[in-house]
Amino acid sequence: MVWQRTQNKKQTRAHDTPRWRRVLVLGALLPGLVWAQAGLPALGDDGALTLGQEAQLGQRLYAQLWRRDAVLPDAWLADYLAQVWAPLWAAAQGLGLVAPEVAPRYHWRVLPIREASLNAFAMPGAVVGVHVGLVARSPSADALASVLAHELTHVTQRHIARMLAQQQRNMPLWVAALLIGVAAAGSNTNAAQAAMAGAPALAAQSGLNFGRDMEREADRLGQQVLGAAGYKPEALGQMLALLQQANRLNDDGSFAYLRSHPLGTERVAEAGARVAGLQAPGGWAGVSMPALPSAAWHPWMQARAEVAISDNPAQWQAWQQQGERATAPLNEAAQVQAWHAALAAAKGQQVAAAWGLLAELAAVLPAGSAQADAVLGLQLRLWAQAPVRLPQVAQPQVQAMVQRALAGARRALWLDATEAALQVGMARELVAVLRPWLSAHPADPLVWAAMARAQAALDLPLAALRAQAELQWARGQGQQALERLDAAQRLLPKAAQREPHEADVVLARRAAMAQAWAQQQAQ
Ligand SMILES: [Zn+2]
Repeated sequence: MVWQRTQNKKQTRAHDTPRWRRVLVLGALLPGLVWAQAGLPALGDDGALTLGQEAQLGQRLYAQLWRRDAVLPDAWLADYLAQVWAPLWAAAQGLGLVAPEVAPRYHWRVLPIREASLNAFAMPGAVVGVHVGLVARSPSADALASVLAHELTHVTQRHIARMLAQQQRNMPLWVAALLIGVAAAGSNTNAAQAAMAGAPALAAQSGLNFGRDMEREADRLGQQVLGAAGYKPEALGQMLALLQQANRLNDDGSFAYLRSHPLGTERVAEAGARVAGLQAPGGWAGVSMPALPSAAWHPWMQARAEVAISDNPAQWQAWQQQGERATAPLNEAAQVQAWHAALAAAKGQQVAAAWGLLAELAAVLPAGSAQADAVLGLQLRLWAQAPVRLPQVAQPQVQAMVQRALAGARRALWLDATEAALQVGMARELVAVLRPWLSAHPADPLVWAAMARAQAALDLPLAALRAQAELQWARGQGQQALERLDAAQRLLPKAAQREPHEADVVLARRAAMAQAWAQQQAQ
């Protein structure tokens, strides 16, 4: 409804624009050690953070997450999360929550975080982290999207800047806990673990959760974003109720989301009450709405997430048995069970059992569907891990499967096919698929890793080292990137004759990266 949209704009713009440049002022207030440890940029004396600094903050956090091995390198989950996120961001623009001149500066990077807890964060520097546990326990894409919409709204409403204004005294603790919590996710070092453990305690002491008003606002506007993106807005209330119930049953501290987002019964009730008044999705000039993920795909990703974060072999066995009891012809629910079982069997090294389940699925799934591609990908990974344990699978069959995997447009499937392709002598075909993708997406570390493997298999050391350098660069690790290019440079006298073009590229990239890295470090 039109009047409602106008209303929304008025509400949300009132406090928004003037503070746009005042986010995360907190650098100056933080204890130096903490700030340095988190690897964050120094800020100006006036305490203002420019968009450039904001981007730099995001870049540092992004690099930190990769360096600490906090990111789960699973392209299927990453692509799914990006797909859930994209309509929310478009809707936030459509609703006028993001200033039009600012929106193009945000290139969100959505990362699956290797954590079993129920949590997600969106940072002003355009980094979204989603704990894999949240995917595992969200009952639907709409429920998952409701949490992301809430996080997105903390960013668009400049809540961090507003908190600074309201309670300046507590801010250093608040930010330290937030940033160390983010930076330490997935880390194995004692210091980081201590910081992680300390963060909630700090949070409780200093009231460093988002305040109730901000939580309410993130719920209210987040729910508008959710509905406007085309998701079911009632999913927010369902998710809040689920979190609350889970928290009551299970007070082992694994529900991080509840610590950073205090919950009350009234938030659940309010979310339910608002549903009827929300506007229909889309229809804004100049905002194109990305497609929503299909409802049938969520349980496939949920199973993937559940198995990825489970470290309990008894649980893998239970999942495997459940799936093996499902009988053909498989209906949709039984397909999900069989997929869950295959993932669990693969994780437990039950290669033959996993293969059997996957073969059954491959026989009933429509070719080219996301489900069929996911099955094909897991088959190829399984075979590449243990070809001797699948003697019934002949090499020509694997070659045909690799060919199918590379013929489609799904990058996650190319990555699944990588090791198998190398083992059946198809490195050239793989490079031919990866190269144009990397020209268009030079900041894709997962595909650079596959490229490095392929070039090494082709015995092209310069190209392999350069791909390793690009991989490090894409993860924000400038020093490591330069080291790889130095190694490539040392090989030039021997290798340049065979790889003349690559030799030129190595020199050009070495110069460009060295300059860009020095600039980044100086900021
Ligand atoms: Zn919140």
